[in-house]
Amino acid sequence: MPTPEQARVREAGIPGSVSAFTAFGVPVRFHFTFVLLLIFLVVVGLGGRGSVLLDVLFVIALFASVLLHELGHALVARRYGVRTLEIVMFPIGGVARLARNPRPREELWIACAGPCVNFVITTVILAYLLFFRGISPLEARLTLAAAGSDLFERIAAGNLVLALFNLLPAFPMDGGRILRSVLAIYTSEQQATQIASRAGRFLAVAMGLYGLLTMQYMLLFIAFFVYLGAAQEGEAALGRSLTHGMPVRSAMVRQFHTLSHGNTVREAAQLMLETTQHDFPVLHGDSVVGLLDRNSLLRAMAMEGGEAYVAGTMNRDFVRLSPDMDLAEALPVMANAGPCALVMDGDRLLGLLTRENLSEFLLLRRFGLR
Ligand SMILES: [Zn+2]
Repeated sequence: MPTPEQARVREAGIPGSVSAFTAFGVPVRFHFTFVLLLIFLVVVGLGGRGSVLLDVLFVIALFASVLLHELGHALVARRYGVRTLEIVMFPIGGVARLARNPRPREELWIACAGPCVNFVITTVILAYLLFFRGISPLEARLTLAAAGSDLFERIAAGNLVLALFNLLPAFPMDGGRILRSVLAIYTSEQQATQIASRAGRFLAVAMGLYGLLTMQYMLLFIAFFVYLGAAQEGEAALGRSLTHGMPVRSAMVRQFHTLSHGNTVREAAQLMLETTQHDFPVLHGDSVVGLLDRNSLLRAMAMEGGEAYVAGTMNRDFVRLSPDMDLAEALPVMANAGPCALVMDGDRLLGLLTRENLSEFLLLRRFGLR
C-alpha cells in the first residue's frame, strides 16, 4: 500500500530540454536554446580565424565551468541524501533540480559548493601559471583584474567572476540561498525567504537601471532573469507558508467523473467535452487502475482512433497522495508530477488534486476564505 513517502515523483523534466549524458549518476540535459547557442558558436568558431576560435573555446570552457559548478551542488546535496533530478543547462547558466527542499543547514553547504568549484578552478589555473609559466604573483593578480588574450588567464578570470556573481546575497543566486539559510537560524524560514527574494528583486532593478544607463544590454538581459527567479522563489515560499499545516484533503476536488477500463477513447472524449474535467481516474470495479489525462487522450485519438480502449492508453504509474499528507509537502510532488494526482486512502479513491484547484485554493487562503 503506497504511503505519502512513496508517492512517486514522475521525472518529466523541464519542457524543451534534451537529455545529453549522465555525470556522477546525475542526468544532464540541454535546453534547446542552449543547443542553438552551441551550434552557433561552433559555426562561428569554424568559420573564423585564430582569435575567434579562442573566443569560442573560452565560451565553451565557461559552460563547462558552469556544469562543474552545478555538479558541485548536486554532489553535496547527495551527501545529505537529497537526490538531484537533473541538471539543465540554459544559455545564461545551469540549474540543478533537487528532489526535495533541503533544510536550512543543508542548504547552506549545498549553496556554497557551486561557487567553491569556481574558486578551485581559478586557483588551479593560477597555480599552473605561477609554477609552469613562471609568472610572478603580482602578474597573476593583474591577470585576474584584466585578463589578456591568453585562454587560460581568461578562463581563470571568468571562473572568479562566476563565483563572485553567484555569491551576491540575493535570490536566485547561491548567495541568496546562503543568506536565507543563515537568516533562518534567527527568524522563520518564510521570513528569511521573503528577505532574500526582496533583495533579489532590488538587485535586479538596480542592475537593469545600470545596464540601461550605461547601454550594456547584456546586463539588462541578465537583470530580467534575476528578477524572474527572485519573484518565483518568493511565490514558491508564499505557497509553502499558505499550505503548511493543511491536509491534502482540504484542497482536493471532491466531485468528479471516472471512466471504466472498458470505456473507449471516443466515450472518454465525449465525457471530456461534457465536463470541465481534464483528467479521469480509470476504474476496474471499485479499484483504480490508471489515470487518463487530456494529452494521452488526444494522442490516442490521433494514433489509434476512437474505438481503442482507455485501458491501453491510460497512465498506470499515476501519483497517489494520502488525504492527510501536508499540502506543503505535496506542492513539490505536484510540480514534478504533472497536472493531476489522485488522493487515495489505501485503495479507496477520495478525490483529485489538480494544479488548477491548487491555485484556486491558494487564492482563497490568501484572502482568508479557507
Ligand atoms: Zn550555483
